[in-house]
Amino acid sequence: MITILGAGLAGLSCSFHLGHDQCRIYEANSYPGGHIHSREKNGCVWDQGPHVSFTKNNYVKCLFEKSINGEYSSYKAEVGNYFHGAWIPHPAQANLFAVPEPLRSQCLDGFLARVEHAADENHHVASYEDWLLAAFGDVFTAEFSAVYTQKYWTVAPKQLTTDWVGGRVFRPEIDAVVKGYNGPPSVAAHYIQEVRYPNNGGYFSYAKGFIAGANISTGYQATSIDLERQEIKFANGELHIYEKLINTIPLPDFVRLCSPPENVRSAADQLTCTSMLLVNVVAAHPTMKSYHWMYVYDENMLSTRISCIELISPSSVPAGKTALQVEVYASRYKPFTLSHNEIAEIVCQELIAMGFVASVESCHTHYIPHANVVFDHSRRKSLDCIFDWLSGYGLVREDDDLDAMTDWKREINFAPDRLVLAGRFGQWKYFWSDDCVLRGRQIAAAFKGTFDTEYFC
Ligand SMILES: Cc1cc2nc3c(=O)[nH]c(=O)nc-3n(C[C@H](O)[C@H](O)[C@H](O)COP(=O)(O)OP(=O)(O)OC[C@H]3O[C@@H](n4cnc5c(N)ncnc54)[C@H](O)[C@@H]3O)c2cc1C
Repeated sequence: MITILGAGLAGLSCSFHLGHDQCRIYEANSYPGGHIHSREKNGCVWDQGPHVSFTKNNYVKCLFEKSINGEYSSYKAEVGNYFHGAWIPHPAQANLFAVPEPLRSQCLDGFLARVEHAADENHHVASYEDWLLAAFGDVFTAEFSAVYTQKYWTVAPKQLTTDWVGGRVFRPEIDAVVKGYNGPPSVAAHYIQEVRYPNNGGYFSYAKGFIAGANISTGYQATSIDLERQEIKFANGELHIYEKLINTIPLPDFVRLCSPPENVRSAADQLTCTSMLLVNVVAAHPTMKSYHWMYVYDENMLSTRISCIELISPSSVPAGKTALQVEVYASRYKPFTLSHNEIAEIVCQELIAMGFVASVESCHTHYIPHANVVFDHSRRKSLDCIFDWLSGYGLVREDDDLDAMTDWKREINFAPDRLVLAGRFGQWKYFWSDDCVLRGRQIAAAFKGTFDTEYFC
């Protein structure tokens, strides 16, 4: 029997692929789903932060489709940017035509100068700031990217590495920048083109196929773990002895539960993620802006990303109403200095000022302690220290365990022992929901020594 800690998508996918009869999942919450759980409040269905599926992986698409009996909608996302009163199509770097002058021309000059800069042989990319300067030039970096990085990642670009960037930040060719300076580009450049969303029940519906038949014990919050004796204690007083353990709960929490030596505890303390306050706002009138979601670049505004729920998921909102979900971020680098209510009040005023709502019918907040892993310069070193220590208790090091992302086309190169890590926070990686599904399949294949073709769609 394999024990799994956490019934988020990673834990559920492990159980699904290993065979539910082979697994038991322990989950702290009273419901499964973790970050992809959706809940109803004030007449609307709210996800834990805006979720849409933009996976290109056919296997995941197929499993998600099966979960909801093929009942999903697929559409091209309209994404926008708000910049000091101007509305700029996304990504702004390829749509300079909409940036007010003289900044528009200054941004272009910066882009053109970057060619020289990036061609300099001594140009060394040591941080996200270096990457931005080489990609976008100094003016766009300072006015757009640096401000948004501070709002979303809660740190300055120079505090971040670049291993997480991949295709997630669009880097246009100079030609595309010039075309976008002169007018709207003919081809959309955002990495998310087509999105899929369940017709009913919010994003959580995608988890249903993974949950059916799973042995999930909810209300089981692990409070201490003895890695030597392979023993887990839960807040409800129960104790469980495992043979093999798959951990998907946040790695720093997991390490602390295991009473580590001081150097490992301090490595766990170094791992940083952002926390997020969701401000969920309903207005009693139809949609006033046509964007599915948009980014707010103004540094004096708390709103960071705004999603329009009735456009993403019409069934989640009563007809004729507007439902907006606004993300506001904090971390140990940038703690919240206002109460949740104060933040909500300010966000509502910002939505009115930006023309999203005329007035607010209802508003509630939802605090999410783990939002995004922060890829700061100490991350790899801290992970290395933690993984080395855990390898004394049955964790097998993987070639790419320090990487920010996983290449799913790589061959499976590890034979699991007693302890395996899975998921966005379990592995401390930049995982989206499709990655969590694929990690479950990878782990099952590693345990079995082969891919089980029965799961291929
Ligand atoms: C704001 C935001 C937007 C996102 N948007 C998208 C998107 O559009 N598309 C996309 O594909 N992905 C998106 N993601 C990513 C996606 O949500 C995650 O990759 C995925 O849900 C993570 O699943 P997981 O199982 O790894 O972790 P989790 O979902 O966090 O699961 C871990 C589980 O462990 C449980 N747990 C924690 N501590 C304990 C304990 N002590 N004992 C027992 N159980 C415990 C938790 O309750 C939780 O259920 C987004 C994430 C965020 C934060």
